[in-house]
Amino acid sequence: MQATLTFLGTGTSMGVPTLGCACAVCTSTDPRDCRLRPSVLVSWNDPETQSQRTVVIDTGPDFREQALRAGIAHVDAVFYTHAHADHVLGMDDLRPVSFTAAKKSGPIPLYASLDTIAILMRIFDYTFSPDATYINRARVELKSLAAHTSVHGADFMRIPVMHGDLEISGFRFGSAAYLTDVSAIPEPSLELLKGVDVLVLSALRHKPHPSHATLEQALEWARKIGARQTWFTHISHDLGHQETNRTLPENARLAWDGLSVPVTL
Ligand SMILES: [Zn+2]
Ligand SMILES: [Zn+2]
Ligand SMILES: [Zn+2]
Repeated sequence: MQATLTFLGTGTSMGVPTLGCACAVCTSTDPRDCRLRPSVLVSWNDPETQSQRTVVIDTGPDFREQALRAGIAHVDAVFYTHAHADHVLGMDDLRPVSFTAAKKSGPIPLYASLDTIAILMRIFDYTFSPDATYINRARVELKSLAAHTSVHGADFMRIPVMHGDLEISGFRFGSAAYLTDVSAIPEPSLELLKGVDVLVLSALRHKPHPSHATLEQALEWARKIGARQTWFTHISHDLGHQETNRTLPENARLAWDGLSVPVTL
C-alpha cells in the first residue's frame, strides 16, 4: 500500500530558532532552518473505504500549528515514542478532531508504553483521571503499545531504542522506520530494521550529548542499516541545513518541516 510520510517538525526539544539565540542558523532566512518540535504524519488512502487514513507519531507543543499546516482534519491513531515535553505536550490539541472522531468511530487511540502512559495520565490528569469532570476533555483512549499494532490494515511495529538510560519506542511501518531521540540501538532492534527503505533517525549536532546521537553516530547507523534513503530529524541549531547537507552522502540528508516522502506500508 502506498503511503506518505510527512515531517511535521524536525527540530530538537527547544525548536529552531531557539529562544534568545542569534546564531547563524537561528537567524537564517532559509525556511528549512526553521524547525518545529519533532513529529511525523503517516497518511494513506484506505482501499476498503476510499478514505484518507492519518497516523501521527508524537504530538509535541507545536502540534496545532503543524496540523494546520499539513491540513490534518482527522486523526485515526497517535503513537508516542516517549513522554518528554517536546513529544507529548500537544496532546490536548487533538480535542477538536477527537470530538468528530468520537461521534463517528469512537475515541482516538493513543498507543504508548506503560511508563509513557503513566506520565501522560499525570500531565493530563483532567483528561484521563477516572474522576475527570472536564466536559471538553479530549475524546482519546490510552492503549498499551504492543510489539505490533494494526491501524486500518497498516502494521506499526515497535522498535525499542535507548534514549540515555530510558528505553523508548521507535516504529517501523512497512518499509519505513522512525527512530527519534536515540542514543543507542540494541542489536535485536537492528535486526527489526532489516530491509528498511526509508529510515528516519535523530541527529542532534556534532558535539556529544548523553541522550542523543551525534550526526556522526547517526550516519554510522545509517550506513549499517543501509536504507535506500535516510533522513535526519530532531536537529539542533548547531546544524545549518545547506552547509550540513553539503557534507553528507546523497542518501543521508537532514529533513525539514513539511518534507513529504513516499513510503510503502
Ligand atoms: Zn525529543
Ligand atoms: Zn541558535
Ligand atoms: Zn526525549
